[in-house]
Amino acid sequence: MNKAKRDVVIAGNWKMNKSPAEAKELITALKPLVADADCKVVICVPYTDLFVAVEETKGTNIKVGAENCHWEKSGAFTGEIAPQWLKEMGVEYCVIGHSERRQYFGETDKTVNLRTKAALEAGLKPIVCVGELKEERLADKTHEVLDTQMAGGFDGITAEQMADIIIAYEPVWAIGTGLTATDEQANEACAYIRSIIAAKYGQAVADAAVIQYGGSMNDANAAGLLAQTDVDGGLIGGASLVADKFAKVVAAAK
Ligand code: PEP
Repeated sequence: MNKAKRDVVIAGNWKMNKSPAEAKELITALKPLVADADCKVVICVPYTDLFVAVEETKGTNIKVGAENCHWEKSGAFTGEIAPQWLKEMGVEYCVIGHSERRQYFGETDKTVNLRTKAALEAGLKPIVCVGELKEERLADKTHEVLDTQMAGGFDGITAEQMADIIIAYEPVWAIGTGLTATDEQANEACAYIRSIIAAKYGQAVADAAVIQYGGSMNDANAAGLLAQTDVDGGLIGGASLVADKFAKVVAAAK
């Protein structure tokens, strides 16, 4: 399957930004700007913005995602949120294993795996983040890191389940830093991830897998990145907080 047959998904990751009132304002501005998008448009927002995001996007082409979920259905896990509750409120996607969660909140490949399986079981589409640190790239260990993260994060996930998963290749050195991977670096890493999927699940599953690039993608660099043969969209942080900038990234996904 060539790229033209895969979904292109542009997803915003708002991180810990926007109050519910600010979320409503941003979504109101965004709706008309992306109404004619040629790709899937997703906004992944803080838990406290989910209600307003689901309400405000009803009847539009914008889908809503959370930024994390727990792997249990309920219990003594203060501060955590169960995936089926997200589903119940109309959330469709869930970012899992973002590097900020790996860096600041003890997320591991094991917990990424547990969260991914729970999200799938609840009927959510996980956006699973993988990517190397700057020192790992400089030490030429990018492939090794991706091998490890993909083996751990996708342990026990079936070929059928792969159809509901998006993978976001996010080199940690490019997230929120203004440093973007070159078009070639992004494509090479996404193609490598596709080869890992092919080795585990077969070529057909790999060819159908949606693999995004994330890391300082914005209105100025999106067209080049999104034109790459193995880059099927983007996970956008900073630029997703400004309606006009995010809409321009969406428009670049032809
Ligand atoms: C992200 O939060 O996943 C991200 C890629 O952030 P930024 O676009 O700001 O680098």
